[in-house]
Amino acid sequence: LDTPLFSGLKGDISASFEFFPPKTEKMEAKLWDAIQELVPLGPGFVSVTYGAGGSTRERTHATVSRIIREARIPAAAHLTCVAASKAEIREVAEQYWQEGVRHIVALRGDNGEPGAAFEPHPDGYANAMELVAGLKDIADFDISVAAYPETHPDATCPEADIDNLKRKLDAGASRAITQFFFSPETFFRFRDAAAKQGIDAPIIPGILPVTNVAQARKFASQCGAKIPDWMDGLFEGLDQRPAARQLVAATIAAELCRRLYAGGVRDFHFYTLNRADLTYAICHMLGMRPETNNVTEVAA
Ligand code: FAD
Repeated sequence: LDTPLFSGLKGDISASFEFFPPKTEKMEAKLWDAIQELVPLGPGFVSVTYGAGGSTRERTHATVSRIIREARIPAAAHLTCVAASKAEIREVAEQYWQEGVRHIVALRGDNGEPGAAFEPHPDGYANAMELVAGLKDIADFDISVAAYPETHPDATCPEADIDNLKRKLDAGASRAITQFFFSPETFFRFRDAAAKQGIDAPIIPGILPVTNVAQARKFASQCGAKIPDWMDGLFEGLDQRPAARQLVAATIAAELCRRLYAGGVRDFHFYTLNRADLTYAICHMLGMRPETNNVTEVAA
């Protein structure tokens, strides 16, 4: 009982932070505040998502370029192949390479309503595995791909989903980043099953600090993740108490990370939702400390 909960942590973790491209100037200022807060923690990389069907192509590009230019940290661009021809993908990828982007998170993406069958572009890539191979053909990108501890909804069974992951890695990806999940056992089972099916590349858990269960549940239902019932109980009665919700969210996510750490995990990918506070607090509890005070100092 005397052992402090986080006492075993040695600060030997590596974190990456995911952002989404801002829509407005106000959102851009907020994103940049978050980046300034988080960059001093020395992330292995940060990544910027690609809107459904490539809808944020320009904004993703602008955000990644700005991070590389001003924050001077490795930034990965998410890129989906849905609704794009191979020629369009080539154009985007070549531009990234020219601007110094060396890391791509290669994804299939989704078209139409969640749950609708995936329809590849007639001149495009049929899935993420083909996209990875295509990107490797364009330039020697470092490529990350998606993995699903609770199985992707399109997969016929968990084994087929892991086979698909293996094909993406065999096609040239170096690591997998997972969809969010809330039980460490789910991740460990997935990691073991992947190892059994011959995967030895790093599988990085994706951590989503949840402050709004209803919203998270809606999103989870579209991507094959589950929100456990106990989480509803923890947020019960907190609708009008945002500060308490933040504290609960940080505690849940930090505890998940602590248990993942105890199971050997050292790399964590945080879905920041463009807000620094929660992710910063969780990283702090995991033993991370700022290397410098702000982005200006990093840039200097
Ligand atoms: P794939 O790996 O191509 O396939 C998805 C599933 O289909 C597989 O798991 C597999 O079960 C099945 N499948 C595919 N090919 C075959 C085959 N030949 N035979 C049998 N089964 C097959 N979406 C965005 O729009 N923008 C983003 O920026 C974005 N970032 C993401 C980041 C992470 C870390 C994660 C986990 C997801 C992200 N997504 C993003 C969501 C992603 O686009 C969707 O989950 C999409 O439905 C699947 O993409 P994928 O790259 O996993 O697809």
